[in-house]
Amino acid sequence: MKYYDAIVIGGGLQGTSTAYFLAKKGLRVALLERDDIASGTASHTDGATLISDKQPGIDVLQGYHSVELYRKLVKEFSYDIEFESCGFMYVCETDQEMEAAADYAAKVSAQGFDMRVIDQKEMCERERYLAKDLKGGLWTESDGLVNPYKVCLGFVEEGRKYGLDVYTHHEVTGIRLNKKNQVEAVITDRETFLTDKVVNACGVWAPAIGNMVGLDIPIEPRKGILLVTEKSETIAHTEVLEFGYWLAKFFADFKRPVSELVERHNVCLNIETTHSGNTIVGGCRLFRGYDIKVEYEIMQAIAERAIRFFPILKDMNCIRSFGGIRPFCLDHLPIVSGVEEVPGFYIAAGHEGDGVALAPITGLLISQMITGEKTEFDATELAWSRFKNVDRKKLAAHGN
Ligand SMILES: Cc1cc2nc3c(=O)[nH]c(=O)nc-3n(C[C@H](O)[C@H](O)[C@H](O)COP(=O)(O)OP(=O)(O)OC[C@H]3O[C@@H](n4cnc5c(N)ncnc54)[C@H](O)[C@@H]3O)c2cc1C
Repeated sequence: MKYYDAIVIGGGLQGTSTAYFLAKKGLRVALLERDDIASGTASHTDGATLISDKQPGIDVLQGYHSVELYRKLVKEFSYDIEFESCGFMYVCETDQEMEAAADYAAKVSAQGFDMRVIDQKEMCERERYLAKDLKGGLWTESDGLVNPYKVCLGFVEEGRKYGLDVYTHHEVTGIRLNKKNQVEAVITDRETFLTDKVVNACGVWAPAIGNMVGLDIPIEPRKGILLVTEKSETIAHTEVLEFGYWLAKFFADFKRPVSELVERHNVCLNIETTHSGNTIVGGCRLFRGYDIKVEYEIMQAIAERAIRFFPILKDMNCIRSFGGIRPFCLDHLPIVSGVEEVPGFYIAAGHEGDGVALAPITGLLISQMITGEKTEFDATELAWSRFKNVDRKKLAAHGN
């Protein structure tokens, strides 16, 4: 039987990043993926690396560290992950949103990150296809885009240079613990590997891996749908989101001036024009189990919302659409942590709509925890122990 210093389960964004950083630190590492690299949510997503869609505090802090890491990685990697620091804009439809946006910008700026309010004139100069009746918004230089699929492949290719072993089409079916409840081996449908450190980086499927060691991980799939337009001149020069997206994400009672269709499907605008010239338009946040089917009504709602902000889209063709499921953790923060009650078991999952942005920092933090180094910053708020001895329903009340 093969022995590894650490085994990472899940060849998505968190798993490939974790495997890369561990291998780079000189550990003998195996990455196990039941299908192909990036076959999970990593290939059903868009690629915004946003700091600014996070809550002030640890959320913004980890976003900031992650985007800084992306900047370093693109210099180190010979593999092109299409990282682009194109900036990011929130747009506001109402005066009430403008007030909330100004308050948010002040809190984020107080943490030392650049974000400022822009008026309607500057907003339309930056994005000439935006509807002219919008009130203004927020602007930050720091955010940008990557190609999520290529991020996973990049981590794998670069990790291989440090000796990373990758086993695709290996489904993990069990984890063996010794009498002290410590990790001893990882069992797949093809072979068993010996190790005393295992990382659960299985996104929406992380609860099934948790069950194998007796943990009840509070992650649920949260569906999103994206539309892709035909190629054209650049429609959105930066990543653009409606500020209502952020408000709707964190405040369940926040109401926008939208149609019943948009409201019912929890649709908010986000838009990016990719390197290839296609524009990706989203999105929605829905609890529908593991179903990623695209529903026609939701497509209509997304198109309606997108045209409200970018009227030019009305005359463009939608060439395809796809659905994906975000790993939603009940308190809106990922779990990036060791598990005290199962020594050797680590979790890197639950990143919901931020898993592309946060992949580098997640991988680095877990690698530092495993090697016993000081972590990049105090990550206590991301720890598994936050779910111990608490009423999970109360924790969930903070998010929607
Ligand atoms: C529509 C949509 C838009 C999004 N937009 C953005 C965005 O712009 N920016 C952003 O930061 N985030 C975005 N996200 C969120 C982001 O895509 C996710 O947070 C991220 O993909 C989660 O990464 P992960 O590594 O945790 O999971 P995944 O990428 O899903 O990886 C988990 C892997 O584990 C594997 N696996 C599962 N079970 C087993 C097993 N038993 N054995 C072996 N392998 C197993 C799976 O096959 C999968 O490959 C979006 C998501 C959606 C759905």
